[in-house]
Amino acid sequence: MDLTESEYGFIGEVLGDDEGALYLRTFAITDVSWNDETRGLYENRQSEGMEFRNHDTLFGAVLKSGEPVIANDPERDPRRGGLPDGHPPLTAFLGVPLYLGDQLVGMFGIGNRAQGYDDELLTALEPVITASARMIEAMQSRRARQDAQIQLAEAKEQAEKANMAKTEFLSSMSHELRTPMNAVLGFAQLLQLNPQVPLHPRQADSVEQILKAGNHLLELINEILDLSRIEAGRVKLDMEDIDPHEVLEDCVNYISPLAKRRDIGLFSDIPPLGRATIHTDRMRFRQVLLNLLSNAVKYNVENGSVRLSVHQDVPGFVRFCVTDTGPGIAVDKQEEIFEPFSRLGAETTDIEGTGIGLTISRKLTQLMEGQLGFESQLGQGSKFWIDLPGAAVEVVPVQEKRDHNHLPDFPKGMHTVLYVEDNPDNLCLMEEVIAMVDNAKLISAHTGELGVEMAQIHQPEVILMDINLPGIDGFEALRRLRGLNETSDIPIIAISADAMAEDIRRGLAEGFDAYLTKPIDLSQVIDHLSRAIEGTLRLDGDLKN
Ligand code: ADP
Repeated sequence: MDLTESEYGFIGEVLGDDEGALYLRTFAITDVSWNDETRGLYENRQSEGMEFRNHDTLFGAVLKSGEPVIANDPERDPRRGGLPDGHPPLTAFLGVPLYLGDQLVGMFGIGNRAQGYDDELLTALEPVITASARMIEAMQSRRARQDAQIQLAEAKEQAEKANMAKTEFLSSMSHELRTPMNAVLGFAQLLQLNPQVPLHPRQADSVEQILKAGNHLLELINEILDLSRIEAGRVKLDMEDIDPHEVLEDCVNYISPLAKRRDIGLFSDIPPLGRATIHTDRMRFRQVLLNLLSNAVKYNVENGSVRLSVHQDVPGFVRFCVTDTGPGIAVDKQEEIFEPFSRLGAETTDIEGTGIGLTISRKLTQLMEGQLGFESQLGQGSKFWIDLPGAAVEVVPVQEKRDHNHLPDFPKGMHTVLYVEDNPDNLCLMEEVIAMVDNAKLISAHTGELGVEMAQIHQPEVILMDINLPGIDGFEALRRLRGLNETSDIPIIAISADAMAEDIRRGLAEGFDAYLTKPIDLSQVIDHLSRAIEGTLRLDGDLKN
């Protein structure tokens, strides 16, 4: 305005409304308010810009024609629609369209230059016009960036909500599925293990099939849930410095019956205690290693072999290698191996699996700041490895091992077990389980309130407690039992279809002596009951099934 000695001026961008009509929104405008009402308008709209939509005006003529408009006698100019009453007089006007390429993006207008406006001035203003158009371009791209950021934030929020909903859905599905699975697997185990009623071999085969399919389904539920939790970033790792010795031995012991059954030689090359210590989550490390070892056994050839070895070639890392003599993996299929549910053709064989194990294992290894990789050649076998960060030395005590092959013995004497459970199928199953033990009897309550009363009256040696109960839940019942003199010392084992690690952690933190998940494992239930009766359950602090 100073440059052109104008009295009034504005600059703004040209936008299109919903019907495609152009209008002007100002970035800056000289305050020409002439009364309180217009003063208020100018003050309020200064920051967000004023909008002008009337095309029967001089600046409207710029929008309509897309050309500069010079009016040195605005009073009599036919393009002018008139000014509102009280508007300061307009003696001359220059409106200049601003273009980016061939697109009209804005305009500025100046008014009341004493000597009027002409083409010469317009030419002299060329650099200002170009700079103004660039300024509008910069504002538009900033706005586009802001819009994109807002959209991104919204999309992220939506994705997070969807993810939460998915995890919650899966967790409740898992709960809903576990409850009937408890009956299916529990009764099938009963048929299989009950020495009082031995099965005909063909019946035993059928039961074996039920157990196999049921366990497969259970594995699928667990793995899908695990994967969805990892993907939702909801896995809490318990990172510590450990000597992997014990985990390695445990994994080898765990896998060796499977290897023996398939005539696969299992060899391990484990470093002495105190060497090759790592920083990791013990349970997750075990899970990953077991996945690699079981794959190496499952996808192997007759009389093949599997070797577990430990290397410290990469500084700062310890490498755990599982090498097999299996059929290997074709190069064109190697990409797929970490895709969930992809089994590379194994789905048409009778080798059991879900195709999710390696997806989970790789994600978990990455979460533990390590790497999982493999090399494989068709017909030559495969070598899978995990690299985990090294750590300072810490020797870990060796844990007690459990034998899954026969039912554990129950302590001598007669024992009473109270089961608080509202589901009749589950109750019936537990009655059968306890009936298999000669020297134990089961009493039951179908609500928490009744459970507390029965515990006071009958003084059972151990209580099995469902969590989701009508009325007070298992946690409240636990609190009440702990608060009563007569029942405060009775071991209480939670037995629930809420099987997420958080549920288990919460259960133990609230004071249950152990937390078992449904579907139940018969040997495990009996083992826990007998240890509770012997008074050794709490010392053990056993967390998982
Ligand atoms: P699952 O074993 O449950 O199918 P994984 O995710 O552990 O799922 O493995 C995915 C697929 O990768 C397997 O189905 C199998 O085809 C292939 N695979 C895994 N490990 C090996 C191996 N050691 N040798 C050959 N193929 C393997």
